[in-house]
Amino acid sequence: MNLDLAPEMREFREEVRAWLRENVPREPQPHEGPEMRAFDLAWQHRQYEGGWAGINWPVEYGGRGLSLLQQMIWYEEYAWADAPDIGSCFVGVNHAGPTLIARASEELKSFHLPRILRGEVVWCQGFSEPGAGSDLAALSTRAEIDGDHLVVNGQKIWTSYADEADYQELLVRTSRGARKHDGITWAVCDMRTPGITVRPIPTMTGPAHFCEVFYDDVRIPLSDVVGEIDSGWSVAMSTLSFERGTGFLKEQVRLVRLVDQLVELARDRVDPRGRRRIDDDVIAQRLATARAEAAALTAMALADISRNARRSQPGVEGSMLRLFFSQLGQRVAKLAVDIVEEDGLEARPYGLPDSFAADWYRTFAYTIAAGSKDIQRNIVGERLLGLPRGR
Ligand SMILES: Cc1cc2nc3c(=O)[nH]c(=O)nc-3n(C[C@H](O)[C@H](O)[C@H](O)COP(=O)(O)OP(=O)(O)OC[C@H]3O[C@@H](n4cnc5c(N)ncnc54)[C@H](O)[C@@H]3O)c2cc1C
Repeated sequence: MNLDLAPEMREFREEVRAWLRENVPREPQPHEGPEMRAFDLAWQHRQYEGGWAGINWPVEYGGRGLSLLQQMIWYEEYAWADAPDIGSCFVGVNHAGPTLIARASEELKSFHLPRILRGEVVWCQGFSEPGAGSDLAALSTRAEIDGDHLVVNGQKIWTSYADEADYQELLVRTSRGARKHDGITWAVCDMRTPGITVRPIPTMTGPAHFCEVFYDDVRIPLSDVVGEIDSGWSVAMSTLSFERGTGFLKEQVRLVRLVDQLVELARDRVDPRGRRRIDDDVIAQRLATARAEAAALTAMALADISRNARRSQPGVEGSMLRLFFSQLGQRVAKLAVDIVEEDGLEARPYGLPDSFAADWYRTFAYTIAAGSKDIQRNIVGERLLGLPRGR
């Protein structure tokens, strides 16, 4: 087996590296407010102009349609170039766009997809409610049909970037069926529609990107429904499969890189007794384990991309990847704190805006977002391993 890259792939890597060298913004990335929005959209636009927007989107929808190997090379170079996070463009590029491609009418696709790729709009996700998180199908934000509109009343919560968003993936209850998964509808909600109130929620890790969103007789044209009325559950499952699987590919590659950086850090740092941190057996052992697990993560990601290439949308294996990635991220962030010890409160990890400690706190959120780790475990157990369903 020859594991070297073919010459054309090496050329492709050079092309990516050269473009990133010239184009990665060097100014710090703002993490809240209109400055964040302007920065994220400008970076998305620059990628679009360079021909690098939507690398995994089909060419017919304006994407680059790269092979899986090319996508992996792009993300590796992206991480090594310390390119900024996709930030508030995440929902649009990584799951709203792909959901529209898979499930929406041609009118919705031709209106929204170019705007997402060109970096003109921010999207948010209105799925979770105060009484419906893990049990998403319990959602109760109501929508009644009035002529050619849905009229929405209710509340969403934990909506990231709602205060800066133009559009929302919105799940509403349009009827009560025999099963709670029936009677749900997936619609595109224009965030500037009258009757929407957005209230940011401050958090202990700093920038508040979470919001509550309230809907008071909000009118959404029926033409903005994706899929059929009352059949939105399967559209929502498409959205979540994009969100849980390869949507986090860049973060996964960055995590692998962070492990290598921690090895260097442990070689450079000495404790008060003059001993290098890497000479502490426990630290060395944890680093070795993290490196092996990071290699496993890469292998799982490649297997996932390869499986997804053979079907129209990602499968439930994305839950396995998401579970392993979020927990490994937490272990690696804690290892970083343990290497730098009390300096963790001040020292900043590579390419990240905050201290090692703040980065570690943030990793707890990754085990909740896109479905908590317990829910991912249930999915892996029931749908991949065929274990009996829990109650
Ligand atoms: C960083 C971040 C960003 C987010 N962004 C968005 C967003 O943009 N839009 C959006 O709609 N939502 C968003 N969320 C919300 C997220 O989807 C929910 O927090 C998540 O689905 C969990 O729901 P919950 O908070 O209501 O917790 P709950 O569902 O109340 O769960 C509480 C605890 O019970 C456990 N639990 C619940 N049910 C089961 C079960 N059946 N089996 C085993 N354990 C169970 C959970 O694992 C958890 O530990 C975001 C969350 C985070 C952390």
